[in-house]
Amino acid sequence: MRLDKLLSNMGYGSRKEMKKWLKAGNVTVDGTPVKDGKHQIDPEKQTVAVGGEEVHYREFIYLMMNKPQNVISSTEDGLHETVINLIDPQYHIFDPFPVGRLDKDTEGFLLLTNDGGLAHELLSPKKHVAKTYFARIDGKVTEDDIKAFQHGVTLDDGYETKPGELVILNSGDISEVELTITEGKFHQVKRMFQAVGKEVVFLKRLSMGSLELDEALEPGEYRELTEKELSKLK
Ligand code: URA
Repeated sequence: MRLDKLLSNMGYGSRKEMKKWLKAGNVTVDGTPVKDGKHQIDPEKQTVAVGGEEVHYREFIYLMMNKPQNVISSTEDGLHETVINLIDPQYHIFDPFPVGRLDKDTEGFLLLTNDGGLAHELLSPKKHVAKTYFARIDGKVTEDDIKAFQHGVTLDDGYETKPGELVILNSGDISEVELTITEGKFHQVKRMFQAVGKEVVFLKRLSMGSLELDEALEPGEYRELTEKELSKLK
């Protein structure tokens, strides 16, 4: 990889600024000043430093966000704030995108990354990655609903869902449940409840695959995945 490309990937200013830094001998490769931005380096094997400070190169970033309501889970939206607007500009150079979508009024676990391969693995219908949601439902959720979800329900467009595991936490005028599904159809949780004549009034994703939402994250907050979390994903 070219030295100037590595530095720009890592957010070390504009091309012009980098040229100046290089020219001034402020950039070293394995301790030796290198002035030519075209110089080829192997970031895995060589140590690059700028102004004496080591550059920790990485290609990918992985952020876990507790998505708040009223924010769109896409990279751009003409009207509304997006999850990308919530993250620090230092991460924007990596071009992160959300892995899958949550509705505007859904909260909870959202992974943001620039690792297309991993996103594909997590979203591929063939991989059956489990997603668990906490939901509040208008009305009583019953054993019959558990059975219906176990068999799969028919959505409004005729699609037969795969089995979902429904756990009733509280059943009352407003019930509280957890639902685990392995698909990701548009509005799937809301439409599964609609299929049994019920309405979701609050929805939060708790987990995706092996990753659980860090409860310390308030809505709108995010953090990088830990090494351990990352190794569980790959
Ligand atoms: N199912 C829904 O209905 N909405 C979401 O945001 C996610 C799953």
